[in-house]
Amino acid sequence: MTETNAFQMVVSRIDAICDRLNIKDVYRLRLEKCERELTVNFPVRMDDGTVKVFTGFRVHHNDTRGPAKGGLRYHPDVTLDETRALAALMTLKAAVVNIPFGGAKGAVVCNPELMSQAEIERMTRRYTNEISMLIGPDRDIPAPDIGTNPQVMAWMMDTYSMLKGHTVLAVVTGKPVGIGGSKGRLGATGRGCVINARLVAEHLGIGLEGATVAVQGFGNVGSVVARLLAREGSKVVAISDVKGGIYNEKGLDVEAVFRYNQQTGLVVDFKDAENITNTELLALPCDILVPAAIEDQIGKANAADVKARIIVEGANAPITPEADRILNNNRVLVVPDILANTGGVVVSYFEWVQDAQAFFWSEDEVNRQLQVVMDNAFHEVQEISQHEKLDMRNAAYMLAIKRIADAMEARGIFP
Ligand code: NAD
Repeated sequence: MTETNAFQMVVSRIDAICDRLNIKDVYRLRLEKCERELTVNFPVRMDDGTVKVFTGFRVHHNDTRGPAKGGLRYHPDVTLDETRALAALMTLKAAVVNIPFGGAKGAVVCNPELMSQAEIERMTRRYTNEISMLIGPDRDIPAPDIGTNPQVMAWMMDTYSMLKGHTVLAVVTGKPVGIGGSKGRLGATGRGCVINARLVAEHLGIGLEGATVAVQGFGNVGSVVARLLAREGSKVVAISDVKGGIYNEKGLDVEAVFRYNQQTGLVVDFKDAENITNTELLALPCDILVPAAIEDQIGKANAADVKARIIVEGANAPITPEADRILNNNRVLVVPDILANTGGVVVSYFEWVQDAQAFFWSEDEVNRQLQVVMDNAFHEVQEISQHEKLDMRNAAYMLAIKRIADAMEARGIFP
C-alpha cells in the first residue's frame, strides 16, 4: 500500500512544519538527511552447516539533543529507506516527550520465524560486532522492535561487553530485568498508547469505559493495548495479527484471546468470534482504532472507509499523508505515532538512567513517571494544536522540530 517512499514521507511532513516555523535552511537540511548510515553484510553459520550472508543497517538520523536511540527490527522486507524513516521518527519522538536523545534505528533483513534460537543468537552477535563502532551508552543505544525481544537485547549487551572487556549494561535497553532491564519496559509502549487513548477520549467527552475498540497487531504493543483497555472497561470488539483477525460485536474476552494466542500463535479461529480480514478490521464501526502492526496500513484507498472516531497510532507510520488528509476531512482524531507510541522510548530512557546510576526503581515508580511524561507531552501537543489550528500530528511535529532547531542553534556548527 506504500504511496511514497517511507523516508520521503517523514521528510515531507518535516518540510511542511519547517516552512510554517520559518526554520533556517541550515537546520532544515540537517533534519532532511540522516547523519550517519552503515550497511553491513555478514556471514552466519546456520544449524545445517551452511553459511548465509545477511544484510543489516544502523542509521543515526540526528543526535543534536543527546545519544542516538532506536529499536532493532528483524523483518524479511525491511529496507535501508524504511530504517532511515524509523530513525527520523525516533529523533522526533525523543523531542516530543523531551528526553535527551537523538534518533537511530537498526535492522537485519531476515525472517526470525524461520530461524532457530541458536541461529538468531549467532546472527545477533555478529551484527552487534559489525555495528559496534556506532553503538555505546553515550553514542547510540538500541532497543527491541518488530521481531526482536529482551533476549536479543541480552545477546547484544553481552557481545558488546565482550568486545569492551567489561560489562556495559547501558548499551541497550529493553533487556531482561535480571541484567539491568527496567521493570515496566516490556509493556511500556502499549501502556503509553492507553494513556494517550484515555486523554484523547476524555477530550472528546467519551471516556474509556464502554468505548468500543479495534486493535490491529497482537504483538508487544497490540496485546498490551488490548489487555489494558479491557481492564479499563473498554469493549475490545476486534483483534488481528498478520494471519487475520477476529470480531465480536459484544466484545472479546481479551485474556482468553491472549491465552489462545500463546498456545497457537494465532488469533483467527478463536471461539466466540467471527474471523475477519485486516482490511475489514480497519473499517469497523468503533470509538477507538489502534493500528499496532506495521507501516502503511491506512492509505488513500481505504482511509475513507475508517469509521472510528479516534485513531491511536501504536505502530510507526501506519497512516500515509494522503490518508491523513482524508481522515482530517472526516473529522477522525489521530493521535500520531511520535506521541502515541513513545511510552517505550520513555521507559528506555528510565532504564538507561537506572543503569547509569546502578539504582533500580519499582514498577509503580516507573509507571508513575511514565504517566507524568506522557501527560505533559499530550498537553503540550494539544495546546499547540488548538493555538495553531493544526491536527495533532502537525502539532507534535511542530513541538519536536522547534526543540531540535533550538538545540542546533545553541550548539552551533563545528568547527
Ligand atoms: P511485534 O513483532 O511484537 O508484533 C507485531 C504484530 O503485528 C504481530 O501480531 C504481527 O502478527 C502483526 N503483523 C505483522 N504484519 C502484519 C500485517 N501485515 N497485518 C496485520 N498484522 C501484522 O512488534 P511490536 O513491537 O508490537 O511493534 C508493532 C509496531 O509498533 C511496529 O510498527 C513498531 O515499530 C511499533 N513500535 C514498537 C515499540 C516497542 O516498544 N516494541 C515502540 C514504538 C513503536
